[in-house]
Amino acid sequence: MGGEKDDSGGDTAGPGNCTAAKPSAAASWQKFWKRAKTSAASSFQSTVTLKPTAKVPQWKKTLNLLPKMPLDVLFEIFSHLDPRDVINLTRTNRLFRDALLSPNATTVWKVVRAQYNAPDPLGNISEARWAELLFGRACQGCGTQRFPDTDFLIRRRYCKACKKKSVAIESKIRQFFEVPIDKTVLDLIPYTNDSGWAQHRKSRYFLISEVDDMIKQLAMFDEDIRLNRKNAAANLRAFKTKQKQLVQNVLDGAPECKKWYWKLIVDNRADKPDRNTLINQRRDAIFERLKGLGYKQKDSSHLHWATEVAQPTLLTERIWQKIGPKLEADIQTSIQIREGWKHSEAQ
Ligand SMILES: [Zn+2]
Repeated sequence: MGGEKDDSGGDTAGPGNCTAAKPSAAASWQKFWKRAKTSAASSFQSTVTLKPTAKVPQWKKTLNLLPKMPLDVLFEIFSHLDPRDVINLTRTNRLFRDALLSPNATTVWKVVRAQYNAPDPLGNISEARWAELLFGRACQGCGTQRFPDTDFLIRRRYCKACKKKSVAIESKIRQFFEVPIDKTVLDLIPYTNDSGWAQHRKSRYFLISEVDDMIKQLAMFDEDIRLNRKNAAANLRAFKTKQKQLVQNVLDGAPECKKWYWKLIVDNRADKPDRNTLINQRRDAIFERLKGLGYKQKDSSHLHWATEVAQPTLLTERIWQKIGPKLEADIQTSIQIREGWKHSEAQ
């Protein structure tokens, strides 16, 4: 019973939510595409008169193959994506979500996680939730993107405000519950020493929701004992042993996970070119084009800080079509002015 439960809460994913994902995921998948195709076809026919010669573009032909693909083929495709893309897919629609949160998709998450040499899940959190914890960036409480920190000890990523609301220090946790809570209960639950506002090496902050879950689970074991159910006492002992082991595993594994997590953030930042680099890249690309058009460096150097040039956006063909003529006109004007000066100096 309790020991089988995903200890990770119900914010986004987990076996609790995964029950919806079920044996019929493949059937729902087929149904979804059939429905999507039918409605797309009818709305298309009612609004557009198809030219007899119109050809179906290649990308549409390729997408039309999707409904015919078995789920395991789609999983194979998803396995080649970045973990963040797979996380985004779970938010695209219910079918993607159900399919990817189902136990059948565990391998997908493991494979995408391996691309980053990421640590194994701590405790009994599901692979999908673990991936969200490792690669997501938003607060799991309020959704803010302002870089909340993942706390691997409680396996949650919260902003300061949400964390403060969600955890309670050991000495005050009893205020939240009507039933007595002693140390033996708290010893079964992972804890952190960072409340979001304060860090004390020796303080234990517990997720209030996890304490609540634990009280309910222990009550069920107690009820089994009270009713003299077979092996009730032994089951409770085994559950407690398992939970204590889980707490120890989380304590032991969290520092490594934290190290990996910060390295990923630092690496990501290093990969991302800063504003000045982007501006320089665009400027170089523009001057290269102007050179190709026969302009000399002295003709275009005055454009170094021009609004069209000093932008942190890469130069695309479309942008060039828009700004190229204006830049050329500027250059022509400056050449004329220079020639005019030369002419007047010569006189
Ligand atoms: Zn928050």
